[in-house]
Amino acid sequence: MSLNKKTINDIDLAGKRVLVRVDFNVPQEDGGAITDDKRITAALPTIRHLLSQNAAVILMSHLGRPKGKIDPKFTLAPIATRLGELVGKPVVLTAATPGDPLGIEEAKTKAAPGTIVLLENTRYSEAEEANSPELSSQLATLADVYVNDAFGAAHRAHASTEGVAQIVKQAGKPAVAGLLMQKEMDFLGGALDDPKRPFVAILGGAKVKDKIPVIESLLPKVDTLLVGGGMAYTFYKAAGKEIGKSLLDADSIEFCKEMLCDDKLMVPVDCVVAPDFDNDAPRTTVTVNGIPADQEGLDIGPGTIAEFSEIIKKAKTVVWNGPMGVFEMPNFAVGTRAIAEAMAQATEAGATTIVGGGDSAAAVEQMGYADRMSHISTGGGASLEFLEGKPLPGVVALDDK
Ligand code: ADP
Ligand code: MG
Repeated sequence: MSLNKKTINDIDLAGKRVLVRVDFNVPQEDGGAITDDKRITAALPTIRHLLSQNAAVILMSHLGRPKGKIDPKFTLAPIATRLGELVGKPVVLTAATPGDPLGIEEAKTKAAPGTIVLLENTRYSEAEEANSPELSSQLATLADVYVNDAFGAAHRAHASTEGVAQIVKQAGKPAVAGLLMQKEMDFLGGALDDPKRPFVAILGGAKVKDKIPVIESLLPKVDTLLVGGGMAYTFYKAAGKEIGKSLLDADSIEFCKEMLCDDKLMVPVDCVVAPDFDNDAPRTTVTVNGIPADQEGLDIGPGTIAEFSEIIKKAKTVVWNGPMGVFEMPNFAVGTRAIAEAMAQATEAGATTIVGGGDSAAAVEQMGYADRMSHISTGGGASLEFLEGKPLPGVVALDDK
C-alpha cells in the first residue's frame, strides 16, 4: 500500500503560487552554523520539481523553540543561505515584524514564478502551535496550492501543517503531499500495511513507557519483535531477574510481564555491564542471569548480537527504532553497530529496511550505514506516532487520491 493522498505529481503547478511546509528544523551550533543539513537536502526533490514547473515557491518551517516570540537566535537566515547554495539560486528570507512575525505580507510582494521565498520561523508566532484559524487564514492567502513536505512535523496539528491545509481546501484549492512526505509514508505505511515477510521489528532505547504503544501496535503485525537497549532491563525485572543498577521503568513492569508471554517477542540473552555509566569503565559480558547487583547493563552482548543478526538477515522487512546500547559511548556502541551491519546486509539481500527514531537515525548516520538502509526517516517523533498506528494530522488534512 502507498500514500492514499494526492501529491505534487497529481496536480497542475505551472506558474502557480505554491506554499510549502518543510521541516528545516536542523541541528545547529551555538552561533547558528548548521551541523547537519540532511533535512534541507531531503526537501530538495520537491523544491526542484516546483521550480521546474515555474511555480512561485514559498517555503515555511519551524526551527527550535522560540516560544511564540521573535528571537534572532532562532532565525532561518543560516538555512536560507544553505538552501540557496544547494539549489543554486538566491532564497529570499522575509523579515519578522511584531505585527507579522512570519513576514507573510512581504512574501506576497516578493513571490514570483521560478523564485524561492522563505518565511521566517513559524514559531515566532504563538498562533502556530495554537493552530489558530487567524494565522492559518493568513498563510492560506499565500497559496494557490498548499504542499506539506514536513513529515517530521506531521504529527502536530499546527497552523502551518493542519490549519492552513483545511482553509486552503475550503477555498477549493489543492492541499497535497510533497515528495519527501510521499516517500516517508510509502516506506513506513508499506511496512505496516503490507510487509514482505518475515517482518522483524527491533526496538531499543531508553524508556519502555514511551514505546508501549509501539510495542502494542507492532506485535500483532510482525513475525518477530527484538527488544534491546535500556528497555530490555525492565523486561528482565518482569521475569524476576537481578538487573543491578540498569535502567528500570518501574511503571512498565506489569506490561512487560504480559508481553513476555508472546513468543514473537525476544529479549537479549546476554549483555555488557559496567560499574559506572562511563566509556572507560571496565566492561564485562554476562548472561541475563548474571547481572551483578552493583553494575549496570549498557549494551547487548555477543550472544544476542549473533541471535538477532541471524533473524534480521533472514527478514524481508525490518523496522528499527531505538539503539541497542549507550552508543554515544564508543565502548558501548558495539551492539548498535552490529545491528546496523545486519540490517545493511539484509538490505543487500533484498529486504526493505527502515530506521525511524531520532537517536537510531543519528547512530546509523554516524556509523556510516546511511546508504545501506532502504530508508532513514527524517521524523523521530512522527515516525514513532506512525508506528503506534496514530493518524498524523498533517497528512490526514491533505486531499485524498
Ligand atoms: P530513538 O530516538 O531512536 O527513538 P530513544 O530516544 O528511545 O531512541 O533512546 C535513545 C537513548 O537510549 C540513547 O541516548 C541511548 O544512550 C539510550 N540507551 C540505550 N541503551 C541504554 C542502556 N542500556 N542504558 C541506558 N541508556 C541506554
Ligand atoms: Mg530519542
